[in-house]
Amino acid sequence: MWQLAAMVLEFSTWSRNNQWVQLQVSMEPGYKFQWVGRRDGHQIPQRLHAAFRTFGWKWPGKRITVLTQPPADLHAGSDAALSVAVLVGSRQWPIRVQEVYSLYGSVDLFGKILPVPGDVLPESWPASSRFHLVPMEWKRHFSGNNAVVGVGTLQDIQNFLHHGMRRDQGASVQKKEIIWPDLRLSEDLQWFFLVVAAGAHPCFLMGPPGTGKTQMARLWWKLLDVTCEGGQFLEPMPPRSAHVPIGSWLERTEGGCLFLDEVGEWPLKALEALRKPLEEAQCSTLYIAASNPCPCGFQGHASRPCTCPPGRIQAYQRRFSGPFLDRFQLYAYVQADPSDESVVWSEVRHRLKRARAMQSKRGLGLNGQLPADSLGKALLVQEAAWTDLRLWQQRTGMGERSVHAVLRVARTMADLEESVGVQPRHIRLAAHWHWSNQGLISKSDLWGPAHSWSTLGAPRSPRPQSSQP
Ligand SMILES: [Zn+2]
Repeated sequence: MWQLAAMVLEFSTWSRNNQWVQLQVSMEPGYKFQWVGRRDGHQIPQRLHAAFRTFGWKWPGKRITVLTQPPADLHAGSDAALSVAVLVGSRQWPIRVQEVYSLYGSVDLFGKILPVPGDVLPESWPASSRFHLVPMEWKRHFSGNNAVVGVGTLQDIQNFLHHGMRRDQGASVQKKEIIWPDLRLSEDLQWFFLVVAAGAHPCFLMGPPGTGKTQMARLWWKLLDVTCEGGQFLEPMPPRSAHVPIGSWLERTEGGCLFLDEVGEWPLKALEALRKPLEEAQCSTLYIAASNPCPCGFQGHASRPCTCPPGRIQAYQRRFSGPFLDRFQLYAYVQADPSDESVVWSEVRHRLKRARAMQSKRGLGLNGQLPADSLGKALLVQEAAWTDLRLWQQRTGMGERSVHAVLRVARTMADLEESVGVQPRHIRLAAHWHWSNQGLISKSDLWGPAHSWSTLGAPRSPRPQSSQP
């Protein structure tokens, strides 16, 4: 049951002594995990974190306290109940749990729900629960009871809680369905979000904590997954030394997404160790880096002041060298604003489908991964757009790598508008988005007017215009 004031979630679970007990999980800001009276409690976060990552979730940075009522000896059979409490309580599952459920099952490292060997089947069910979610292996013993629901994975539980019993009365929930959360972004960022999703462009997100950087990365991955059956999502723990197994990360995320979070906190040598592999990677990984803009996190925030001395902010941002930032095709400052609007998922998916169709017709893969030698002939850049691009290169002194990044991104914008040729405004906006990346290290007024495209006219065309071939 969801109790707003105390942020406590409660489920029934099956104990080692074969009785139903209440599991109460309280969550608040902080970083501690405590299970009152359970000796192996300290291992639980790592174990469940590994299982969560299979689906792109993670163990949250929260102070989590667990209690059982009455006090009971619990074992891995309570994994499912704890996982659901943690995922709902940290809002990774955008679900309001309206009633009490019984949940039983251990969770393995792949997120599968399994019975604990030796546990006996319950003879009765808690009266307070309307539904009882148990491993598939148990469900077949209760096939006549519609309140008993068999689940195979954590994803099945999420689907069940979201859709309830409407889909198939009493039958086990097996069909995988993605639940698209409410993503609120400014108009500019909505266009940015769409461009990255359509072309799988490696990008760098900077912004205060809690503005949805991680959520955006996960959603890009999910969109890749639904449109081209991608690989896995990997969010490695920030390294403590220069040793970064980037090769193995890229291998594991082939066709998927590698999310490098909090890179501002990584050792400098670790950042530099990423450079070469990212440059040489001939893989189809969409890699995304995210960082706070300064040590306190709030530089550039609309309402909350940054408390860092100016020298500290520059020192922090100077950690990202030009060559490192050059590995990313796009750069964005992400922040939440009350005027942000919800992303309309049906529209996003419709437009992605069209843009992907344009790309597959060319037969060269996604734009973000186009080989450099195919750029010139493949992209159909209009003459005036070339002129703008060369002018931009002269003025900024950007190298060929940046020019390639701008071309790839501009092509995706044209694809999203179903425009045959790349037009000057595509080039200008793509260059602006790429240049802000470089502005990170070369300009003191990072987000101010110095950033705008002063002589060519500011690139203000985030809203897609009607297609003009
Ligand atoms: Zn600050």
